[in-house]
Amino acid sequence: MVPALRYIRGACGPALGGFPGGFSSAGRPAPGRSWPLCQGGRPASTRSFDVVVIGGGIVGLASARALILRHPALSIGVLEKEKDLAIHQTGHNSGVIHSGIYYKPESLKAKLCVQGAALIYEYCKQKGISYKQCGKGLMAIDCPYTGIVDYRQVALSFAEDFQEAGGFVLTNFEVKDIELAKESPSRSKDGMKYPIVIRNTKGEEVQCQYVVTCAGLYSDRISELSGCDPDPQIVPFRGDYLILKPEKCYLVKGNIYPVPDSRFPFLGVHFTPRMDGSIWLGPNAVLAFKREGYRPFDFSARDIMDVIIKSGLIKLVFQNFSYGVNEMYKACFLSATVKHLQKFIPEITVSDILRGPAGVRAQALDRDGNLIEDFVFDGGVGDIGNRILHVRNAPSPAATSSLAISGMIADEVQQRFKL
Ligand SMILES: Cc1cc2nc3c(=O)[nH]c(=O)nc-3n(C[C@H](O)[C@H](O)[C@H](O)COP(=O)(O)OP(=O)(O)OC[C@H]3O[C@@H](n4cnc5c(N)ncnc54)[C@H](O)[C@@H]3O)c2cc1C
Repeated sequence: MVPALRYIRGACGPALGGFPGGFSSAGRPAPGRSWPLCQGGRPASTRSFDVVVIGGGIVGLASARALILRHPALSIGVLEKEKDLAIHQTGHNSGVIHSGIYYKPESLKAKLCVQGAALIYEYCKQKGISYKQCGKGLMAIDCPYTGIVDYRQVALSFAEDFQEAGGFVLTNFEVKDIELAKESPSRSKDGMKYPIVIRNTKGEEVQCQYVVTCAGLYSDRISELSGCDPDPQIVPFRGDYLILKPEKCYLVKGNIYPVPDSRFPFLGVHFTPRMDGSIWLGPNAVLAFKREGYRPFDFSARDIMDVIIKSGLIKLVFQNFSYGVNEMYKACFLSATVKHLQKFIPEITVSDILRGPAGVRAQALDRDGNLIEDFVFDGGVGDIGNRILHVRNAPSPAATSSLAISGMIADEVQQRFKL
């Protein structure tokens, strides 16, 4: 007997009185409250979907939205392990709408960033989501197209569009197994139509025809448990932010970025105005001892063993030893970071800043110790592999590029699965 999933049947929105989080008048959950599991109005079974998207971050939600807008007749579900959507990378970033000037001309990253930034601006205008186009000075280059936004708000808006179009969002659903349905007298018919079974840590399951995974920091593990390639491995890099004291915020008028070090996908410590008026400085890039470990001493033996044994981390460390030590040093000693920041604003002193929050980047690393810069799609072979598309690497600026990436994922799904 399959345990029932937690969901609320009926149209999403303020009418769902039983939901403890409550809704804002826009129909979104109140800030900080969980998104309910709900049906967008189509009479579909809650346990069987044509397509399941694993991961309720900005990439998964944008992709689910793109798929349902393109294929309104399909039943599509999003599975998210947390009780709230978009709380990992999507909820822990600088909030910058990148213009794309950093990235190698003609690279996928550059193209998707330029397209994505235009789409994000247009989307925010359409939906009334606040953003600021505050510009950037990149040494002597002024780049007025750069902006800022709250990406979690954007992601929740994607979720709302998706649900309004008939999609389901199932939170508190941590995927643990992906396997072929075993035919049994009780469900042989469904087993034929929905040959993939996805089970969570509580033993609950959903069935589907096709799967798209957008699991961020867990993209390698999700791939492995579906029988697909464990490589590239994800190495978590924490980025700590400092916060400028309110009385000093007048010093920063827009985003200020150093010229990036082209050997790394990280942009260097920068000054970022936030939508709430505060100014964040950072992030640095230090190895995190735990995926989703937002504090310096968060530690997971499994995560550490995996990066040491399975990834090319040791080679990366040997090749970039001094960069790594320098980042660790700056993470420990504020004065070292401040010295760096003074190159841009000489008036800043240690007493002007406070330690702030952190984010953890999901960075794919190959066995030779190369940080993978571009987005990576992957599938597999066999009955399950042929029905899965894995998004293996969606590093910065994937939030900026999310709408462009989602279009590419929808094309890929359509082509691979002949939808
Ligand atoms: C410090 C930092 C600063 C950044 N700054 C910027 C910026 O200024 N501009 C920009 O464009 N980009 C920026 N980025 C990058 C951007 O935030 C990410 O590229 C983007 O958010 C990736 O989205 P995602 O959906 O792939 O991942 P996530 O937001 O991490 O979502 C993945 C989701 O999958 C879920 N999941 C994982 N495993 C399972 C499972 N087993 N079952 C169910 N669900 C699962 C997770 O809970 C999570 O919600 C930054 C990132 C960081 C960390």
